Amino acid sequence: MGSWLIGSVATKNPRDRQLIALAGVIPDLDGFGMIPDVVRAVVTDQPNTFQFYHRYHHVLCHGCPGAILLCGLLVFFARERWRTFGFCLLTFHLHLLCDLLGSRGPSPSDLWPICYSEPILRRPIWFWKSQWKLDGWQNQIVFLVVFIISIKRAISSGSSVVEIFSNRGDSVFVKVLCKWRSTLFKPR
Ligand SMILES: [Zn+2]
Repeated sequence: MGSWLIGSVATKNPRDRQLIALAGVIPDLDGFGMIPDVVRAVVTDQPNTFQFYHRYHHVLCHGCPGAILLCGLLVFFARERWRTFGFCLLTFHLHLLCDLLGSRGPSPSDLWPICYSEPILRRPIWFWKSQWKLDGWQNQIVFLVVFIISIKRAISSGSSVVEIFSNRGDSVFVKVLCKWRSTLFKPR
């Protein structure tokens, strides 16, 4: 949602906004090792150790090489390529910052570092000892603030975060928001 907000300010082009928003979630592609982990546990009837997930998550796509490669692939579909590339890098790095600040879990000792040069080089490795929990109150407050700003932005700009998934769904959603606003704030 935060990435969409940045895209919404950065460009009037819906395609480029979608790409900028996608760049903000795309680092977590490397968490998909969880799928073969689950399949293997089901097929072999063994407890799931999340081996692939732990080996590749925050390693393949949470660094500078991943940023250049994935944002480079995304802007292949962009209208304004260089501008979109710059903002994709921004939202990609916003994701890394959010992970560094608040992605601890599932157990209290699970600190997630950012290995910025992985998978090419092992260093630098950044971590923050006070990293808050993924479902901690800090993240809930951030979510609430970003959610309220996104709703206000949707009403003022005529497009919402729903456009990432469906343009048609977006126009219905924005119409509903505008209707609610005119009902709630009707001049007396
Ligand atoms: Zn992540």
